[in-house]
Amino acid sequence: MKFNTDAFCSFIGADIIGNNKSEYVDITNISVDSRSLQNDQHTLFFALKGGNHDGHDYVDELVNKGVRYIVISDESKVHPTQGVLYFKVNNTLAALQSAAIFHRDSFDFPVIGITGSKGKTVVKEWLNYLLSEEYRIIKSPKSYNSQTGVPLSIFGMEEKHNLGIFEVGISTVGEMEKLAKVVKPTIGVFTALTEEHGEGFQSLEQKVSEKAKLFVNAEVVICELNELLLKYLSPITSVYTWSLSDVSANVYGQVTQSTLSIVVNQTDRFSVELPFTDDSSVRNIMTCISMMVYLGYTADTIAMRIIGLYPVELRMQVKNGVNNCTIIDDAYNADYQSLSIALDFLEKHKVSSSKTVILSDMFKSGFEVEEIYSQLKELLATHHITRIIGIGEHISKYLVGVSNAYLYKDTEEFLQKVSVEDFTDENILVKGARGFRFDRIVTMLEKKTHETVLEVNLTAMCHNLNFYRSKLKPETKIMVMVKAFGYGNGSYEIAKLLAHENVDYLGVAFADEGIELRKAGVNTKIIVMNPEINAFSAMIAYDLEPEVYSVRELNAFLKVARERNCYEYPIHIKLDTGMHRHGFLTGDLDELIEVLRHTNVVEVKSIFSHLSSSDMPEYTDFTLGQIDMFTQNSDKLMQELDINPIRHILNTSGIFHFTAYQFDMVRLGIGLYGVGNDKEEMQQLANVSTLKTRIMQIKEINDADSIGYGRRFRSQGRTRIATVPIGYADGVHRSWGAGVGYVLVNGQKAEITGSICMDMLMINVTNINCEENDEVIIFGKDLPVTIIAEKINTIPYEILTSIALRVKRIFFVE
Ligand SMILES: *Cc1c(COP(=O)(O)O)cnc(C)c1O
Repeated sequence: MKFNTDAFCSFIGADIIGNNKSEYVDITNISVDSRSLQNDQHTLFFALKGGNHDGHDYVDELVNKGVRYIVISDESKVHPTQGVLYFKVNNTLAALQSAAIFHRDSFDFPVIGITGSKGKTVVKEWLNYLLSEEYRIIKSPKSYNSQTGVPLSIFGMEEKHNLGIFEVGISTVGEMEKLAKVVKPTIGVFTALTEEHGEGFQSLEQKVSEKAKLFVNAEVVICELNELLLKYLSPITSVYTWSLSDVSANVYGQVTQSTLSIVVNQTDRFSVELPFTDDSSVRNIMTCISMMVYLGYTADTIAMRIIGLYPVELRMQVKNGVNNCTIIDDAYNADYQSLSIALDFLEKHKVSSSKTVILSDMFKSGFEVEEIYSQLKELLATHHITRIIGIGEHISKYLVGVSNAYLYKDTEEFLQKVSVEDFTDENILVKGARGFRFDRIVTMLEKKTHETVLEVNLTAMCHNLNFYRSKLKPETKIMVMVKAFGYGNGSYEIAKLLAHENVDYLGVAFADEGIELRKAGVNTKIIVMNPEINAFSAMIAYDLEPEVYSVRELNAFLKVARERNCYEYPIHIKLDTGMHRHGFLTGDLDELIEVLRHTNVVEVKSIFSHLSSSDMPEYTDFTLGQIDMFTQNSDKLMQELDINPIRHILNTSGIFHFTAYQFDMVRLGIGLYGVGNDKEEMQQLANVSTLKTRIMQIKEINDADSIGYGRRFRSQGRTRIATVPIGYADGVHRSWGAGVGYVLVNGQKAEITGSICMDMLMINVTNINCEENDEVIIFGKDLPVTIIAEKINTIPYEILTSIALRVKRIFFVE
């Protein structure tokens, strides 16, 4: 991309600071991510301000790495450097969008803009597949459809393309007008509408009217024949409609078994075989067929391509691999832009330094092969990949001579010649186009465990973190508790995410947990809540900060710290204000003050206490009493020692109910993992963990037969029973069995019949349409741990932390 500097500045409303007075801004890369390895002298970096990040904090570091063009809004945070061009604007996000409009306006090929409540990404990926023989397409990677994702996608437009396909999502009113200018679709697609209108809108009608604004300049919008849609679309553009019920639509479709019979404009008829027959797939297929008919494709071509459609999998999953490897599974597509995202993801999630990429031939999309592969080589080089494994005819031809590349002609050859022993302590990105069936490579490299997995949604975790953050004053610090294997979810994977989200402290229970995080490269400050005396020297070696709860412990720590020549080593004083677990009572303070007054080996970084009943309205007075005692006792320490440490007392429920007492920091625990102790709180949180497995066997038993140990279930009539490979040794409480609890099979409740065994349980599926190998949800979004906990008289904390370590954890981002 090459912009005339003056024209660019006036378009985005920037003043120039600095003395890199070039007439043109000549860049190959737009970035908003300070950690991307693609940031270099050809990068234009936008310092965005988000809830938890401020891109300005990284500007000086980026300048050191060679970035020369930077858009900022806050001058006070940067130190102008020779040869760097700073564009000063009022709002960097608005400038990013304006810059995208500037770029968009230099192209006049057709652009398809997609919006709607669901199906946007699937329709975009499918249209890309369906149209790529005839068009050289630029599309949004993954589901980049947000206020930043859309402009970043638009910057991918180049001379060599002749069709754009971009998806646009909005979460509230007012957002679409700007994005409409950024995308400026010539052809619109409105995918399915769902009933719910979402938080950011007052009604479904308001949501439709907002989304329709994307199409003000479109020549046509393809959508379902629907009154509400037409009400808002017809006044601004022409519509090309489809329907599964109304023959007067432009494209009418009727499904019989797996055949879709199409009638175009009530005259032309043809039929296509359906690769999927579920309702939402059929609707997405109707959208795609309508687009193809509109673009003039013949019935034969349409039918031939539709049958080739495939499931769209866009999540990148992080999995534990063999021999201590970490696998990033992105085995469903291989185009340049999604590879570039996956490589950044690999860098962020790597656990050891060695990076391996297993890559198939790239998606052709009508371009010159030479060009695709020379771009690819450059991209791989900037990412410092330790080992490149190329699989496929093209990649093995064009990567010949690349020193760290190992090439195979197809997946079979790779699977035959390579074994799991060839991989140790590596971070492996597996990225391949669908046809290569790289899922087989993932299966080979994955640590072998049974069907049961705990899926952990990292995106939901961020949502929850932001929810609690939004309740706090901007200056209040946040510590997140990751003790007990992150409440059963995982350790360094979660800690890395939190480090990226700039939390101020992490809290672990034991030194071991902290050491594991340090070994995985987590640099955030860590407090150990239950420091054991024999772990003190290891703690110092790994920069872990102890909670100090007694004079005996403090003296023991001082002894070790002195031996290691520590000076002002950070410690955290725990006050007991009524929990009566750990900590200094009021009567202990004078002795503590005496010890601390005479040493500079340690420094009191924070003073804190813990509430025993912040989730119980009936004990509000008690909680306020704890807070009052905390205030007095910490005041005393601060005055007599003349110190000014961070003070903190609130846990998750405290943040929710006693927000006014946030002091300087709060300690978030269970809420991060999507569990609130209160209904209203719970509604604001996103589900993080899903424990699931699969049906192993189904059988029919006779009337009055018994099931399981102790014959605790007797059938009434013929009964269909499914056996599921998860038991109390995996963490399903035994008291949840024998008629008390249930699981979900294909969205329906299936009662747990008989006693839960160690490794298995049986469920009643008499009235449920299911077969062997179908998925079984033990808990998750539609069966929250809170419900299970209540029924069996425990708390969600225990349910989560009981999940055995033999259950494989899979982390994903949405
Ligand atoms: C576990 C813990 C927390 C977090 O509690 P939640 O109820 O999960 O928010 C906070 N502070 C201390 C000292 C803890 O041990």
